[in-house]
Parts: sequence; structure tokens; C-alpha cells
Amino acid sequence: MNSHQLFRHSRLRLALWYALVMGVILSLSGFGMYRALVQAKWQALEQEIESIAGTLHDSLEPMLPISEDPTLVLQQIFPELCVVGQPCNTNPTLIQRHTIGISDRQTYYIRLFDNRGNLLAFSPNQPTKLTQTLHSVSWQTLQSPNGIRYRQFTIILHGATAHQEFNSSNSASSWGYLQIGRTLESFDVEVKQFQWILAFWFPIALSGVGISSWWLSGLAMQPIYESYQQQKEFTANAAHELRSPLASLLATVEAILRIPQSNPQNIKTMLQTVERQGRRLSNLIADLLFLTSLEHNLSSPQLFQPCCLNDLISDLTEEFLELATFAKIDLISQIPDGEIYVLGNEPQLYRLVSNLITNAIHYTPNGGQVVVSLTARDCTAFITVKDTGIGILPSEQARIFERFYRVDSHRDRKTGGTGLGLAIARAISHHHQGDITVKSQLGKGSLFTIHLPCISQTSG
Ligand code: ADP
Repeated sequence: MNSHQLFRHSRLRLALWYALVMGVILSLSGFGMYRALVQAKWQALEQEIESIAGTLHDSLEPMLPISEDPTLVLQQIFPELCVVGQPCNTNPTLIQRHTIGISDRQTYYIRLFDNRGNLLAFSPNQPTKLTQTLHSVSWQTLQSPNGIRYRQFTIILHGATAHQEFNSSNSASSWGYLQIGRTLESFDVEVKQFQWILAFWFPIALSGVGISSWWLSGLAMQPIYESYQQQKEFTANAAHELRSPLASLLATVEAILRIPQSNPQNIKTMLQTVERQGRRLSNLIADLLFLTSLEHNLSSPQLFQPCCLNDLISDLTEEFLELATFAKIDLISQIPDGEIYVLGNEPQLYRLVSNLITNAIHYTPNGGQVVVSLTARDCTAFITVKDTGIGILPSEQARIFERFYRVDSHRDRKTGGTGLGLAIARAISHHHQGDITVKSQLGKGSLFTIHLPCISQTSG
């Protein structure tokens, strides 16, 4: 296929389209997965910060004084926090984890502001150079000079008394703000890992897409290529089949023109040859047209009528008896007593069976036997034509139904066949929703079986 430029180009174009579409789908799903994973992690991280902030907020609020200096209270509640303006005690053993509810204090930092936005206290691990002014937006993402990112959550605190007022009047003023921040270092590392995995696998996946696209386009092109080859073969065969009788016809006409008028007997013989060749040509063209009409379903199944296969077989065996006797072949028919009917086109069914009987007689040597039998089972009629002839090689058995195919073209042409007989037989059986199969053994004989759906069968 690749040696043919048209097919190579089409295959390449198809492969490119496949690769493009599959590449886009793959990229979109890869990117979608990446976004979903990052988003899920981000949401989990925010929920964690929010829940810690909530726990702290709930435990802090009842203890917050309204008017006293908050520093003292804060030192009592958070001994590990550094109070602004006082030396910072960073001894980690002082941290009362159960109070603040943070198991990994390296990850989190806390800051407390008064209600004017002044920083009151902070945990010693807060990022250096973090702005001392308060931004009262709930969520903030910050970046330290060394590139580490932090996610920070700010929540309003109400004093103990105000809290009660707030509950009763719902209009209390705030005590201050609590800020919980978390380093995004591990999150960023994980995101980077995702990105690396994507960057590593994406080109591999794309190469896979490219290779499979080429393979798939080859698969898709194969039937088209085969059909193209068959068409090419058919055209060549048809041209060849038409050329031989035409050439001989022209040669005969030329010879007639050269023969002196005084020899009418010779002219008559030659004209008979012209007629024979002309008839052969006409038959060939008629067969081709008939085959085309069958293959394109041009003859309507609405014209089908019930046909009695018993009559058909007995008519045909009677008809071919003379030919068989002439060829010293024993032609036997086995017809059941019960009538078997199929819905079909009678002339076509005659042609179908007669093609098989003609072949069986042609390809069976003198003294052989041809048995035509009819049976029916499970709404299917079976017509078999069995001969004790030359048989067909297993490798040829599938090909004999192709148009113009002959096992031995030189010998078979001499028998008068065109190579269209079995192609027509198969087209007729398909046209009747049936099929035709062959079993054969070289040198022992062949068995052709026609399967047709039957409409009625009466037991004999
Ligand atoms: P043809 O008109 O040449 O007989 P067909 O299409 O009827 O063409 O058959 C195709 C080929 O199949 C024949 O050329 C012959 O070689 C082979 N064939 C068909 N029927 C038989 C048979 N009963 N026994 C042996 N070979 C057969």
C-alpha cells in the first residue's frame, strides 16, 4: 500500500488527523486531570487552615479581655508566641500543642492583631520580612524573598464580653484579628512533581499516539486499498476478456475482406466464427451488466415470488441430462417428496443452480458422477451440487467466487467459461438473503452448497 503514492499520502493525512485529534483529547484530559488534582489539594489545604483557624478562634474568644492590656493574657494563652516589643522566647518545648491544635508547627504560623491592625503577637516561625500591616481580606497568598509561598487566612476575633453582646445583639465590634498561615512548600513540591510527570509522560504518550495513528490509518486504508486493487484487477480482467474475442473477430473480418467472392463456403464458415465471437462478447457484456445490477441491488426483491425448488431441480436435471450423457457423466437428482418453497426470482434461481451444474459437468472427467440434491432444515433450503471431478485446492476455494477468477485460466478458458459463473451464483444467492459455500478435495471432487431462506416446506 505504501508503494502507491496516492495511498501513502492519504494514509499520512489520515494519520496526522488521528494524531491531532487524539493529541488534543489527550492534552485536554491530561491538563484537566492535573487541574483537578491541584485544585483538590488546594481545597484540602485551605480546609485544613480554616479548620485550625476555627478551633483557635473558638478557644480564644472566651478568654480575650476587652479593656485590659492583652499582652499578659496572650502570654498566658500562647506562651510560645512572641509578643511585639518584648524579647522572643522561641523554646519549642513551651508550645502547648493541645491548646493551639497544630501538630506541625513548622508548617503553620500564627499572628494576632488588635482591631486597629497593629501586630500584637506572632509565632517565632513566621516568615521573615512578612508585612507587619494587616490586610483584612480572608485569604492571601504571600511569597517570602527566598521564594517560599504561604497561604494565609485572617479571621476576626471578638472579646469575651463582646462575644456575649454579639450573640445577643448581633452588632458587637471586633477585638482584633487572628491570622493563620501555612507554608506552601510541600504543596509546590507536589505540583512540581505532577508537572515533571506530565512533562515526562506527555511526549511519550504523544509518540504513542503518533505510532498508533500511523498503524490505525493503515488499518483503515487497507479495505479501501484492497477494493481499489480489486477494481484494478477487474478492469484489467474485463479488458483482457473483451480483447480476445474482439481481436479474433477483427481478424476474421479482415480475412473475409481478403477472400475472393468466388468462395462462398469459406465466407460462410468465417461469418459463423464472427457470429460466435460476437455472441461470446455479447454474453460477456450481458453477464457483467447482470452482475453489476445484482451487486448494486438494482433488481428489486419486491418482484420475488414463491418458487418451488423441487420443480426447479427436476427441470434443471432434465435439461442437463443430455449434456451429462454426452460427457459420459452420471447426473443424479435427489429431491424430497415434500415441496420446498423459497421467495425469489425464478430465472435468477435457475441461473444460480444451472451455473453450478454446468461447472460440475465441465470439471468432472468422463465416467464421473454429479449429484444434485435438495433438503430443508430450520427454515433454510439447501441445494447441493456434488461432483467427483478435479476438485479445487484449499487456497483457491475462497478466490473462485471472484469475478474473472479461474484456477487454471488457460485450460478453463478452453472450456468456454468466462470466470463470471460463480461470481454471478454468489451474487444471486446474496440477493436472495442466502449464501453459497464450497468444500473440495483436489482430485476427489467438490461440493457446492446453496443456502436459501425458505418460506414453506411440506413433509413428504
Ligand atoms: P468459469 O466460467 O471459468 O467456469 P466460474 O466462476 O464458474 O468460471 O468458476 C471459477 C473457477 O472455479 C473455474 O475456472 C474452475 O477452475 C473452478 N471451478 C468451479 N466449479 C468447479 C468444480 N465443480 N470443480 C472444479 N473446479 C471448479
